[in-house]
Amino acid sequence: MNAPLSFDLTALSDRALLEALTSLVRREREVTAEVVAHLAEVDARRLYRDHACPSMHAYCVGVLHLADEAAYKRINAARTARRFPAVLEMLADGRLHLSAVCLLAQHLTEENHGALLDAAVHRSKRDIEELLAERFPRPDVPAALRKLPSPLPRFAPSAPPEAPPLVAPPQAPSLLPRPEAPSLLIAPEAPSRRIPPAALAPSAPVVAPPPPPRPVLAPLAPERYRLQLTISRQTRDRLEEARDLLGHQMPAGDLAEVVDRALELLVRELRKRKFAETRTPRAPRSAPATEGSRHIPHHVRREVALRDGNQCTFVAEDGRRCPARRRLEFHHQRVAFAKGGEGSADNLCLRCTAHHGLATEQEFGREHVARRVAEARLARERLRGAKAPSPGVASTPRERRREAKPPSPGTARTASTPSSFAFGPT
Ligand SMILES: [Zn+2]
Repeated sequence: MNAPLSFDLTALSDRALLEALTSLVRREREVTAEVVAHLAEVDARRLYRDHACPSMHAYCVGVLHLADEAAYKRINAARTARRFPAVLEMLADGRLHLSAVCLLAQHLTEENHGALLDAAVHRSKRDIEELLAERFPRPDVPAALRKLPSPLPRFAPSAPPEAPPLVAPPQAPSLLPRPEAPSLLIAPEAPSRRIPPAALAPSAPVVAPPPPPRPVLAPLAPERYRLQLTISRQTRDRLEEARDLLGHQMPAGDLAEVVDRALELLVRELRKRKFAETRTPRAPRSAPATEGSRHIPHHVRREVALRDGNQCTFVAEDGRRCPARRRLEFHHQRVAFAKGGEGSADNLCLRCTAHHGLATEQEFGREHVARRVAEARLARERLRGAKAPSPGVASTPRERRREAKPPSPGTARTASTPSSFAFGPT
């Protein structure tokens, strides 16, 4: 009989906790490989039919209670493993994960499977997508900007019984293909979904909106990527305006090029703001930063960012450097700011938020940091409470201006609002 499971781990030391986790992950991989092997055999014998299931997927979801995605991956791996049994060993010892097997499955052949499986060992999902794009390049997808159909209403009872089906509004003339850009597909999507009349009846249950489509950024071939996302009307308008303003420089109005130009400007602006990067750096001012000030002079920001390569500088005991390039902060590494450390390049380095927090904990203790974080949170909440306006009353000049302004049709921020557009390949 199995020992009862224990989920209270608070008594474990950090070291014991990590060792236990490593051991569990190893066991999980072995069990996953065994599950996949069993699924392969059940699938081959078509035993799911005895349980009133029309397919292996239905059996996994309906009888084994796996999630759709989990069932799909395991069945895909099981069928791949029947063709190439080496996959099971690789799943068991962690050389391949399930996502890797699913990505590789359709490309594996008798001739290439040895080399392709070896090339995927210990690679992340993203790495494997790049690997496959390199070895099995796909053609570019056409650029497209199209109108999405209106979303389903969340609360159907408010809709009249005879309300017309919700369909996409008529095509906006500005979205039609431009004569000078024949290769660019820019068109609203044809209305594809209608709400069944029952969903609009007063007695109909609450209808949940469909989940917004997930953004896609996937490699197609070496140096080529497919981008697909949903944008607001406001973003669509900005895109159109940028394309129009670039008309002389880019007569074809290529969307990918417009996006690239926009991102180039954005990245330059953000680097300038965060790391004071500039093409024409000014000589540093002779006056040192005010003592006790957190201000870091621009030339110091530039020097630190350049020296650290815009990447977190934390290095683990095994020599692995943290790869983070987002949410970077300037960390006083030799002498902490609270102990009088100055904002010089020698004393500063880049750290991601997590490793900045770790360094602070190591300097001042975990309890001290937790107390300070709790105090700061409480202070913020008190401030919010003090500032909270009574309903319908704007508290700041900006809020008052916003309330005075009529709502703009392009300010929707959610992906499934009526003013959403899919931006990407068809
Ligand atoms: Zn880091």
